[in-house]
Amino acid sequence: MTRPLSATLDLRESGGARSICCAACGHALADAGQPWKPAATVRERPMVGIAGAPYSTGPKVQLREFFCPGCGALLDTETALPGDPFLTDIVRP
Ligand SMILES: [Zn+2]
Repeated sequence: MTRPLSATLDLRESGGARSICCAACGHALADAGQPWKPAATVRERPMVGIAGAPYSTGPKVQLREFFCPGCGALLDTETALPGDPFLTDIVRP
């Protein structure tokens, strides 16, 4: 069974186990109900200059991009200050 959780993530069930997976390639990121971002490939870069003055809110604000380690698809983004924990997205089916 496969059920979409977002535009980039699916909930897949196989053999009684449910996993949060990349919708593009099926790479399993986490068990259902667990945070998936720690399993992603993360790139952080300063927001300054990325999208013009309206998004250049401060020199410390970072853009975090979460990529699938299986296929490289962009799964999600968030903004944060350096050292902030990930915004926890626990998908509860
Ligand atoms: Zn993938």
